[in-house]
Amino acid sequence: MKVTDHIKNAKKTLFSLEVLPPLRDETIQNLFSHMDPLMEFKPPFVDVTYHREEFIYKRRENGLLERITVRKRPGTVGICAAIMNRYHVDTVPHIICGGFTKSETENALIDLDYLGVENVLVLRGDAIKSEPRFVPHEEGHPYALDLLQQVKSMNNGVYLDEEIESRTKTNFCVGVAGYPEKHMEAPNLKTDIYYLKKKVEAGADYVVTQMFFDNQKFFQFVEMCRAEGINVPIIPGMKPITTTSHLTVLPQIFHLDLPEALSKELLKCKNNKDARQVGIEWAIQQSKELMEYGVPCLHYYSMGKSYSVRKIAEALF
Ligand code: FAD
Repeated sequence: MKVTDHIKNAKKTLFSLEVLPPLRDETIQNLFSHMDPLMEFKPPFVDVTYHREEFIYKRRENGLLERITVRKRPGTVGICAAIMNRYHVDTVPHIICGGFTKSETENALIDLDYLGVENVLVLRGDAIKSEPRFVPHEEGHPYALDLLQQVKSMNNGVYLDEEIESRTKTNFCVGVAGYPEKHMEAPNLKTDIYYLKKKVEAGADYVVTQMFFDNQKFFQFVEMCRAEGINVPIIPGMKPITTTSHLTVLPQIFHLDLPEALSKELLKCKNNKDARQVGIEWAIQQSKELMEYGVPCLHYYSMGKSYSVRKIAEALF
């Protein structure tokens, strides 16, 4: 079922999850052990992130270095099928521009369609470590908007090879990313929302936000989106803090602010266990307020940390 139909049919705030594919040398059991304790809270859909290639250098016998492309977390399409099979829930694979050709994307979307996956979240992806800024694949897409248009074209039976005769129409519900504290490359929030609107005008069915820790930022973002005529559901993305290092790492990586009240509590923590407890309590309070505001769904970036998300879910769902 589509995410938007889950939202339409819901009688209360939905609980959803985002998981990472296991590392290349791990088994899928690692992922299941993380998900098992969370499934009793009945997420109607589970997002599975997508990871682009990274480069490693291996020394050849002749002493020269060889650049090898690896994907540390492969398997998003297969994992979606495995999750649907094991838990009988819908999945939302993330599809990214970075590192993929349009043709590879089309093949992935055909696989997903065959598997009965009805949702995708389309994203641009970030720059890889060796690049100062995002560089699109020369046969790929520069922005999420372009990728979205490819998915929407397939929904209309238009494939890359215009000579394909039997034009099966896919039927994907398409989500896109939004940033309550603006995307790190955007000059300001208003400009970022301008581009978000372009994605919605091109057919995005819903928005999921980047994590944030100050609900006022989310409320302001939603109001600005509504004022610009973005009327699709906006789902808040929530990440419980689990370590003391998050105090500096999250602002650095995601370009967001931690409210002073939260940073003060984290500074008092003696160890990660204390920080995890602060993170759980903060996320519960944040989630309660968001529920009162009337968000359709609370989407938790569980990222292998099922303990915290379970505690939050026990308190709320
Ligand atoms: P876009 O919508 O393409 O926007 C990128 C930047 O360009 C923004 O600053 C925007 O304002 C600007 N912009 C957009 N369109 C135009 C245009 N036409 N002209 C000029 N400027 C434009 N990354 C992964 O690699 N894998 C994942 O699974 C993943 N999941 C995510 C899930 C969520 C909910 C979120 C919020 C992020 C996720 N990311 C993931 C990270 C995401 O890929 C990065 O934040 C990326 O830098 C931007 O992606 P986007 O889809 O928002 O890009």
